[in-house]
Amino acid sequence: MTISFDLDDTLIPGRIQFPFERQYLWHKMISRERLRKGSILLIRQLKKEGCKVYVYTTSLRSPMYIRCLFLSYGIWLDKVINKTVHDRILGKQGQQVSKLPVAFSIDLHVDDSAGVALEGQQYNFATVIVGGEDSWAEKVMETIRNSML
Ligand SMILES: [Mg+2]
Repeated sequence: MTISFDLDDTLIPGRIQFPFERQYLWHKMISRERLRKGSILLIRQLKKEGCKVYVYTTSLRSPMYIRCLFLSYGIWLDKVINKTVHDRILGKQGQQVSKLPVAFSIDLHVDDSAGVALEGQQYNFATVIVGGEDSWAEKVMETIRNSML
């Protein structure tokens, strides 16, 4: 199973604020951005269960930077899709939709945006929408478990 995560307001705070993972000196050397509390445990668990983990963001952060940020937390991302990759792979279709996880063989996409959930209904891809709740990781895990039944 392949799971993708949005960055802004899902794993990295912006409009929505949430607690962070613990930060060490080497994180500060790579970035001022910090991952949301619970990200490491959730992603490690997913990988342990054989899932592939992608980041799918409409931001222009470079894939190399995103990879390094996650690596500083000990997480290897299987793929990074940013706005540039989205536009390049999807061409004209990419302009009509903010995200199209099915085009990248993603089974479930985690995001904070209700708009992405609507696009999921329209373009037939599965989403789980999380907000600022502390139990966000449990919500993701529960959705995955249910979809595996
Ligand atoms: Mg977002």
